[in-house]
Amino acid sequence: QAKADGRNDFRFFDQQLQAHLVSQAELEADLRQSITREELSLHLQAQVDARGVMVGVEALLRWNHPTRGSVSPAQFIAVAESSGYILRLGPWVLRKACDILASWSRDDATAALTMAVNVSARQFHHPDFVNQVVDALRQSGANPTRLKLELTESMLARDLGVIAQKMATLKALGVTFSLDDFGTGYSSLAYLQRLPLDQLKIDRGFVHGLPDGASESAIVRTVIALGRQLGFEVIAEGVETADQLAFLRQHGCERFQGYLFGRPMPLNELLAVCGHS
Ligand code: C2E
Ligand code: MG
Ligand code: MG
Ligand code: MG
Repeated sequence: QAKADGRNDFRFFDQQLQAHLVSQAELEADLRQSITREELSLHLQAQVDARGVMVGVEALLRWNHPTRGSVSPAQFIAVAESSGYILRLGPWVLRKACDILASWSRDDATAALTMAVNVSARQFHHPDFVNQVVDALRQSGANPTRLKLELTESMLARDLGVIAQKMATLKALGVTFSLDDFGTGYSSLAYLQRLPLDQLKIDRGFVHGLPDGASESAIVRTVIALGRQLGFEVIAEGVETADQLAFLRQHGCERFQGYLFGRPMPLNELLAVCGHS
């Protein structure tokens, strides 16, 4: 009879751990080639107002690897963060997004659309972050007032004074800020007072439970009320059903994003769907 030998257990976990580390290292090595091999692209997902009119988009990074196929940002953004490669990816995304904005400004139908870009913690806290945004805006010629940067709560657990200063510099140019995945991070509400935010984005985890989930509906109603009373625009992400939309609208949410209105898609598809070209 086989003994439950502790040492064998260790060896087993050790092998698993090692396999995991090797695969992460391989992913990281591949990721470092992704820009030069032109494997990255931006998908855009529509954001609509209460009438269902598209008012903006969120840029979502896509990595199409020759053998791995499409790798989820949930997987590779974490690797990019830990390896530092996000310091290359971040500016790439900013520049692409601003190039699209600049091309839109020449067309009446798209000139008023905003572009939301996700910013990661390491990218934002880098001393060069403000310059990177300014460079992307200048080099592309995009209108700064159309650029919205999405921050997350977890990256705000630092010196609020320094963070507010960076935001203020960009806000002076017209750039706006959204707080993504609101309610899922460390919710010290102090930063809602102290940071120059423009928009709160309700996390799709809460939206998913609407309209029947008792705690989700209470949280969503409260977040909408809080956001509006503090003067922020409130947007919900992950809106998938008409019932969710009805609940959100009824409680004062002003902007919506989710599969109900459209999946993230390449630029040309988005424009075709919207009747532009
Ligand atoms: P996020 O910023 O919260 O983006 C929303 C995510 O929800 C996207 O996943 C989007 O495809 C997905 N989504 C949109 N509508 C629905 C819906 O109705 N139902 C459901 N179930 N999901 C929906 P995606 O594209 O896989 O991105 C995952 C996360 O990766 C993003 O979450 C963001 O945190 C990060 N990310 C994506 N692109 C970038 C980027 O360029 N830079 C950085 N730093 N992070 C990025
Ligand atoms: Mg986002
Ligand atoms: Mg989000
Ligand atoms: Mg999210």
